[in-house]
Amino acid sequence: MDPAAPLDPAAPLDAVAPLDAVAPDDGPSADAPAAAGRGRGAGRGGPGLSPSRANDFMQCPLLFRFRVIDKLPEPPSEAAARGTLVHSVLEKLYDAPAIARTADAARAMLPDEWAELRAAEPRYADLFTSDAATQAWLASAGDLVGTYFTLEDPTRLEPRERELFVETELDGGPLLRGIVDRLDVAPGGAMRVVDYKTGRSPRAGYEGSALFQMRFYALVLWRTRGEIPRLLQLVYLGDGHVLRHAPTEAELVTVERKVRSVWANIETAARTNTWRPRRSALCPWCAHQDLCPEFGGTPPELAAGAVEHAIGVAPGPSTSAP
Ligand code: SF4
Repeated sequence: MDPAAPLDPAAPLDAVAPLDAVAPDDGPSADAPAAAGRGRGAGRGGPGLSPSRANDFMQCPLLFRFRVIDKLPEPPSEAAARGTLVHSVLEKLYDAPAIARTADAARAMLPDEWAELRAAEPRYADLFTSDAATQAWLASAGDLVGTYFTLEDPTRLEPRERELFVETELDGGPLLRGIVDRLDVAPGGAMRVVDYKTGRSPRAGYEGSALFQMRFYALVLWRTRGEIPRLLQLVYLGDGHVLRHAPTEAELVTVERKVRSVWANIETAARTNTWRPRRSALCPWCAHQDLCPEFGGTPPELAAGAVEHAIGVAPGPSTSAP
């Protein structure tokens, strides 16, 4: 990480012209848990690659298949639902006038936001078995919101965009898409990309995955706006750390090369219909162990046309699965 932030992280930033926001699509992580992401809708449609899905494929091609091609549902977790709820509160907090963006006001939003999420996502209905459990969980979400106020002063910020869907197609390559939690733009046009994480910050030397996501967004913004974001900022509410990184052109060129390589490997897997499991320390968090050959399971038959629909490449005549 580059500890030298080129923008004052606490400084209020004005804005330049926004992108037209289109409906989004992103996927599972501790902060965007389920296969369909934070319930933020679907993108323009058609095959594309988000940083979450690229990370899935790099972690395990079979996991990618389960999520992207089979579109298997994943049970909600308290941590994932908390991430969704806190993101929602931090997004809507900025609807209020600056003076009203207090920690108490943000915490007070939690019950209503949770009711809205539950209404929109029936799978959350049975997440808690008692009111006491719900209240304890809401209190833990309140702690994360409280931590946010120790890291940023929302009365001094006027984000240009929140929950911004970004998308660009690489020449001869995949359609890249993702959702930026917040985009701040300084009067001179300098962009700061902000992402909230409700988990803990990675140990030194393990920032790669989070940085890949942020550089991916920076690449898409560079391609769509013609400017490289000045600062990438990850706000970790789990332990109150902020990681900042100033991306360079050389880095983003490298990320583009990596994304093209991942997509080429996905296309090869699609063409051969070969989605190999890759066992790792992350397997205990996989929702599909019972279908995974590494754990004695058998993947389901793929639906006809599912691979082509998801990837845009039809499997060849003699192919095998997974
Ligand atoms: S259990 Fe592990 S190896 Fe199997 S699909 Fe899940 S992530 Fe891949």
